[in-house]
Amino acid sequence: MIVSLFDKDQENPELKNQLLVNLKNIQARIDLALKKSKNPHGRVTLVAVSKKQPLEIIEALARLGQINFGENYVQEALAKMDKLRDYNIRWHFIGGLQTNKARYVSGQFAMVHSVDSVKLARSLQKTAKNMNTIQPVLIQVNLAGETQKCGTAGNSLFDLAVSILELNHLKLDGLMTMPPFFDDPEKARPFFAELRTLKHNMEEQFGIEMPHLSMGMSGDFEVAVEEGSTMVRIGESLFGPRSGYG
Ligand SMILES: *Cc1c(COP(=O)(O)O)cnc(C)c1O
Repeated sequence: MIVSLFDKDQENPELKNQLLVNLKNIQARIDLALKKSKNPHGRVTLVAVSKKQPLEIIEALARLGQINFGENYVQEALAKMDKLRDYNIRWHFIGGLQTNKARYVSGQFAMVHSVDSVKLARSLQKTAKNMNTIQPVLIQVNLAGETQKCGTAGNSLFDLAVSILELNHLKLDGLMTMPPFFDDPEKARPFFAELRTLKHNMEEQFGIEMPHLSMGMSGDFEVAVEEGSTMVRIGESLFGPRSGYG
């Protein structure tokens, strides 16, 4: 049984109701988009992006049955994981990760979405090996070559994949991307399609199967699902504005 510090269900029924409405709304929109995709019987995992959201709201969503949560900042994530360890939560690390912090992340998260260098991959491998575990990872691809964003670009993607495939404590499960921001989500569609093509080409070239395409956020997840996303990372549409944590 999960024992909460407060009984939030009693204390704040509006919060619970609002989260439930948001969750159902997003799930329905995902289902509809999936029907329009090339793989209408596929599955899409909803990763609730809880960065900068207070614990109570994450807890309330977990109590509604949400399992997958995404965090961007190492310290914040570890503190939340510790406080919410009684819940059945699968944590995803989706933020930019410096090599010197990889040891805090490897082996702790169900998936690391943001691997973008050989150096980082080796660092994750080292810790996973020490812990005698296998860390599932995605390569973050920077399709537009935006300098302010993380992600490997262009030719280095295949080289990075080769390196990761040699690291026996990492499991390469797919690709992640964050396209440039557009007011019109249709403008992001070519980026999502390109990531799908890249995944396909890598599978052919390396003779592997990668189950995941992590793409789609609050503003563009329906288009991403139509283009083959298997993991959408949704923050503000689910939780409301990020209010600040800690
Ligand atoms: C913050 C963030 C999201 C969620 O963004 P929303 O617009 O709040 O849905 C998804 N992916 C990454 C990598 C993020 O940093």
